[in-house]
Amino acid sequence: MVELKTAGEIDAMREAGRVVANALAAARAAARVGVTLRELDAAAAAVISDAGATPAFLGYQPDWAPTPFPGVICASVNDAVVHGIPTGQALADGDLVSIDCGAYLDGWCGDSAISFVVGAADPQDLSLIADTEEALARGVAAARVGNRLGDIAAAIGSFTRSRGHGLLADHGGHGIGRAMHEDPDVPNEGRAGRGMRLRAGLVLAIEPMLIRGGDDYRHDRDGWTLRTLDGTRAAHAEHTVAITEAGPVVLTAA
Ligand code: MG
Ligand code: MG
Repeated sequence: MVELKTAGEIDAMREAGRVVANALAAARAAARVGVTLRELDAAAAAVISDAGATPAFLGYQPDWAPTPFPGVICASVNDAVVHGIPTGQALADGDLVSIDCGAYLDGWCGDSAISFVVGAADPQDLSLIADTEEALARGVAAARVGNRLGDIAAAIGSFTRSRGHGLLADHGGHGIGRAMHEDPDVPNEGRAGRGMRLRAGLVLAIEPMLIRGGDDYRHDRDGWTLRTLDGTRAAHAEHTVAITEAGPVVLTAA
């Protein structure tokens, strides 16, 4: 069931979103060659704890997952697309890192993700990240009253394909509110003018996941991490976005 939020509830979600944005900023600031993914997790965890918020990912176990998620962030490096576990792996020069983070504050959830390179970057990785951010921006711009869900999906998917990238066809965004994952699903590829009509008060996590190579992926042995099948690198960007009469409002802006 799709739940619409009041203006006051959207204000409360913005506070949760701010905590997530700050946690991502802390993880990014901590990231450099030789630093471990676990250290990035600790940086984000400290921000969430200091804000009086609760991590949304830690202990999360959807029905497909073999174990509760062990981190505050997902840290997905290089060929890992999403759901990477923040292990003791140390960052190497040129690694493409995607960090996803969620938190609850006063009963409301925020969910956001960023991608960046540590050390000397391959220009193609920077291009992939820029395209992922542009795909997100186009999805956000389509999140308007009177549009349909398919307009968001088409905006993301058509741009992604025009740039020659792969994407995870069966993973995408979601409604968000008191729970991290609410209805509706928000696909990253689809047909404009189709699907649910967008109304004021709908809050969505929009999250393109782009791949330098093909669409195919595999599950890592850890049961969580999704990796590209061809070994090419992937990037992820996400914002929690409220649809209002005045247009889309990003609740997880940095
Ligand atoms: Mg997320
Ligand atoms: Mg999400």
